Amino acid sequence: MTFQTLLYESPAPHVARIVLNRPDSRNAQDTRLLYELNDAFDRAAQDNEVKVIILAANGPHFSSGHDLREGPEGRDMSQYRTVGTWCGFECAGAERLMSREKEIYIGFSERWRNIPKPTIAQVQGKCISGGLMLVWPCDLIVASEDAAFMDNTLLLGVCGAEFFNHPWEVGVRKAKEMLFTADWLSAQDAHRLGMVNHVVPPDQLADFTLALASRIAEKSLFTLKLTKEAVNTAQDVQGRVSAMQTSFALHQLSHSHNYQVHGQAIDPAGVSPSVARHRAQPQGT
Ligand code: ZN
Repeated sequence: MTFQTLLYESPAPHVARIVLNRPDSRNAQDTRLLYELNDAFDRAAQDNEVKVIILAANGPHFSSGHDLREGPEGRDMSQYRTVGTWCGFECAGAERLMSREKEIYIGFSERWRNIPKPTIAQVQGKCISGGLMLVWPCDLIVASEDAAFMDNTLLLGVCGAEFFNHPWEVGVRKAKEMLFTADWLSAQDAHRLGMVNHVVPPDQLADFTLALASRIAEKSLFTLKLTKEAVNTAQDVQGRVSAMQTSFALHQLSHSHNYQVHGQAIDPAGVSPSVARHRAQPQGT
């Protein structure tokens, strides 16, 4: 299994490390990167030698979010082995975009959140919107002191990223402020709110995360899996899944509204001129 957009490493016994490797584009997530990331998670999940999975990123920033510059060629779903059951990627109207976003956005994030093995996100620099959809599905988050988090989808006329986990990550009131203002959430504030487990100096980020992973990897894998499932279920019986489905429907309503008003899935007023020039084709966020 070879990857174009990420690295797959084995840095310590029983630990796999997946590294986003598009640093020149600040690890913007195009369709290929998301499918490769899904394949890499599957590889680690199916490898009996792996107990803990680290998700890291090369370059100064973890991820700038979904790649709004991706053209129609890259977005052509026929070139990927899709994993969901929704399909309909060539349909007309709202069905086409909803199908795509069910597959590669909320579908992947939910899928990764439910990988039985412990996962740890290792975050430096900026982590924006779609970037949250990579780190929030992980069980633990270790951030460097320079890490900062933002969901700026409201500026694009959209009511939050597809994987709408904000209330569970930072609490209801801070989730509203985070979305209403589209302001940065510092690593320190994210730690105080319980979204981040540890904040460490940038030069210690990789070593600290690997040491944490190795400590967990000393434990029984089956017991780790059962423990993870117990905690995830405790969250889900509080209504997380139902709330997520409603948020996703509202998200699709945002896109449909933008198509009617702006002729594309997002409000172009919220993107930079350079991004706007790349968005000749209707596409999602
Ligand atoms: Zn969307």
